[in-house]
Order: sequence, then structure tokens, then C-alpha cells
Amino acid sequence: MNYSGIKTHDVANGNGVRVSLFVSGCTHHCKGCFNSETWDFNYGNEFTKDQEDEIIKAMEPSYIKGFSLLGGEPFEPSNQKALLPLLRRIKETYPEKNVWCYSGYLLDKELLGESRARCEETDEMLSYIDILVDGEFVAELKDLNLRFRGSSNQRIIDVRESLKSGKIVIIDEFMKGLNKVKTQ
Ligand code: SF4
Repeated sequence: MNYSGIKTHDVANGNGVRVSLFVSGCTHHCKGCFNSETWDFNYGNEFTKDQEDEIIKAMEPSYIKGFSLLGGEPFEPSNQKALLPLLRRIKETYPEKNVWCYSGYLLDKELLGESRARCEETDEMLSYIDILVDGEFVAELKDLNLRFRGSSNQRIIDVRESLKSGKIVIIDEFMKGLNKVKTQ
């Protein structure tokens, strides 16, 4: 897997100060995508153990609230294979910090149902994600007033509660429900 960048103090892609990883490769090709250079799976540099160590170290300070995973598309099957060991390690090292992930795939229809994204790693990968912002970017629904998402069709989902209850549990963008989100 290739990646295009790591941010060690990101305040735009989840609650609080976070470490973020932008992976390469996306097959959605949304019109108006803010990051179209990352559609190419070969864009950027190879993600190795060095970057994994860098992320773990950057997450150490107590003011870092968690880790955010963006793209490109983290749930392309080849990316899931590479990301699973990283997510396992983050959750083992920092069980109290949360993990956010951005995906163009819909949780209920595509990640849990049949789709080109669904593979052997998907269920375990979802088990390490606390908040999923799902749905493709829709240029006609773009709204600069939205927090943590680009277009109003995208949903901020409490993954654990959704899996437990069997229905999609949405958190509003002002994070009223966020304090209740349990990390594992
Ligand atoms: S899913 Fe995200 S990265 Fe992929 S095309 Fe859509 S907006 Fe761009």
C-alpha cells in the first residue's frame, strides 16, 4: 500500500487533536473529489514499518485523542490488508483513544453487505473503528458549514453501537453523542 501523507496534529478530521494517515488508491472517482491525485494506488510512497512506528510514537502524548484514517479509500481490499496490522497495533497500544475512518463505501449496504470492498479483512477492520464517516462525496450536496464531512449525504456513524444494535447509529456533527462513544 502507498500513502500520500501523515499529519501528526490534525484538527479537521475527527474530534480533538489527532494523528491522520492518508492512504493511496480509490475506485469511487467522485465528481469534485478534493484529493483526486490519491485515486492512483501508486501515488505517494510505500507504507512500511517505519511509518507504522512513526504513527504509534506520534500518538503517545495524552492530548492526542486518536487516529484518523483517510484516502484515497481505506476500504479498498488491498488497503484493508495493509491497514489491519496497523489498526490492531493502535488499539493494543492505545485502547483508550478512538479511531475514525473515512470511506466512500456505505457501512450497511457495502461494508457489511456484498460489494467490491467486502473481503476477509473487513469485519476485523470494522471492529477497530469507533467512528466511520461513510458515503461518496456528492458535489451537488457540498456544504461548507458541515463539520467533519464534505457533503450532506455523508453520515458520521458510531460503528460499535451500530454493529451491536443492527441499525445505523448516527452521531450529529456537533458531537452531542460523541462522549458516549465507547472505545474498546
Ligand atoms: S471516496 Fe473520497 S477520495 Fe475517493 S473519489 Fe470520493 S471523495 Fe475522492
